[in-house]
Amino acid sequence: MSKERIYLFDTTLRDGQQTPGVDFSVEDKIAIARMLDDLGIDYVEGGYPGANPTDSEFFSKKRTARSHFVAFGMTKRAGVSASNDPGLAALLQSSSDAVCFVAKSWDYHVRVALGTTNEDNLESIRASVAATREAGKEALVDCEHFFDGYKANPDYALACVKSAYEAGSRWIVLCDTNGGTQPEEVRRIVAAVIASGVPGGHLGIHAHNDTGQAVANSLAAVEAGVRQIQGTLNGIGERCGNANLTTIIPTLMLKPVYSERFEIGISTERLAGLTKFSHAFDELLNRAPDLQAPYVGASAFATKAGIHASAILKDPQTYEHVAPEAVGNERRLMVSDQGGKSNFLVELRRRGIVIDKDDPKLDRLISQVKEREAQGYSYEGADASFDLLARRMLGSVPEFFKVDSFRCMVERRFDATGNIKTVSEAVVRVTIDGETRLSVAEGHGPVNALDIALRKDLGKYQAEIEDMSLTDYKVRILNGGTDAITRVLIESLDSTGERWWTVGVSDNVIDASFQALMDAIIYKLVKNREDVRLAG
Ligand SMILES: [Zn+2]
Repeated sequence: MSKERIYLFDTTLRDGQQTPGVDFSVEDKIAIARMLDDLGIDYVEGGYPGANPTDSEFFSKKRTARSHFVAFGMTKRAGVSASNDPGLAALLQSSSDAVCFVAKSWDYHVRVALGTTNEDNLESIRASVAATREAGKEALVDCEHFFDGYKANPDYALACVKSAYEAGSRWIVLCDTNGGTQPEEVRRIVAAVIASGVPGGHLGIHAHNDTGQAVANSLAAVEAGVRQIQGTLNGIGERCGNANLTTIIPTLMLKPVYSERFEIGISTERLAGLTKFSHAFDELLNRAPDLQAPYVGASAFATKAGIHASAILKDPQTYEHVAPEAVGNERRLMVSDQGGKSNFLVELRRRGIVIDKDDPKLDRLISQVKEREAQGYSYEGADASFDLLARRMLGSVPEFFKVDSFRCMVERRFDATGNIKTVSEAVVRVTIDGETRLSVAEGHGPVNALDIALRKDLGKYQAEIEDMSLTDYKVRILNGGTDAITRVLIESLDSTGERWWTVGVSDNVIDASFQALMDAIIYKLVKNREDVRLAG
């Protein structure tokens, strides 16, 4: 029996950005869109072209290869034609494949928030969908406050859905905007929408987590017939967050009640990278991963030693609802951990590093990673540093250059006009092929000065690193107090478009930054040689 397809729609870049403390730069948005595209998400929605410079730049180019690239915005304003609405024009002119409109579907909001009539609102929905299709793009309509609107005035809420459907909207998405609807209500109301004549294959669900049931509500909607789920990575979003795609994806793929009936666009191989993916996203947000997150949390498959541990070793299924490897997580026990080894092998193989599972170097690498993670290193968010650590263990990283010493100075003083000025200067002494070079640089802050000095003169390697730039820098203090340990993560980019993260840890922030900068440069040099080997 062929399975029915469920489509996943990600709104991390817009609804997720409503999370307190989260603010994406264009670079962040591009990186996240690429991650989602690679994961196999069907629709990547990126915000409001025309509304602010970040989103306008983000939508100046298509940012996904496989996923539908979706712009988000309001339906046209009442009283103007679709062709005369500048907001609509910005959506249609952006480099998106599809436009998702937010439409009011609660008559109370139409009156109070829009200040327009019910009929004008329906006309705005129809005209916006029609204009989108004429522009050759797919149209989606998110019916805001749908469930609350349905409870207040079912006829009008249904009229909004039907107007969108009849105008040719590919998807009409039922939104629990306030997040207070219960699964039983979702099931009943979705069934009523389908009974009114709009097929489930054109319906989606957008749930917020205000009663801790955004995932449950999304699945209830699927059971009732919808075939698109909107959500965010790690469930970020305003208030209590949105439906968590990082939970929904493994549930749909691993739970027979869903996996026997449905399929999604994500491969089992990508599913096996989900834990790493989730943690890499947290690193990008500079947030500590949630230890108790379903499937991907560090505690999700952790069992304290004792009778559980011995039972779990005999038969893991006794205490695990799914196999941790299926989502790239690990069983954690207070005993030797064979699950960890296979994860390492998979990860190394993925990076083109070949090692036999019985090679003692592999055990040494695992114990070194564990030891360093205990010191504060985090390799989940710094894959280039992990790559280097593994290659060093195998003896395949040459000593390109040696940094004999560096010095950093920060001076705060008054300039000639009496204004306070802070100057940072760094001096780096490097030896290449027995020849010592001294570079001095000024920068915006000590890390920038150090970066410039380090990359100023690397002799015969200089040409190779010219196309490389530092694109992000994150600092996390791992424990408070005066003996705090600092972890620095640095993201680098080169002209091939590849981005890589490196990590440094120290009780001194400059030293931690320096380690991460060194790894970034050495990774680039190793990568250049690998590329040559692969091309040859
Ligand atoms: Zn929302």
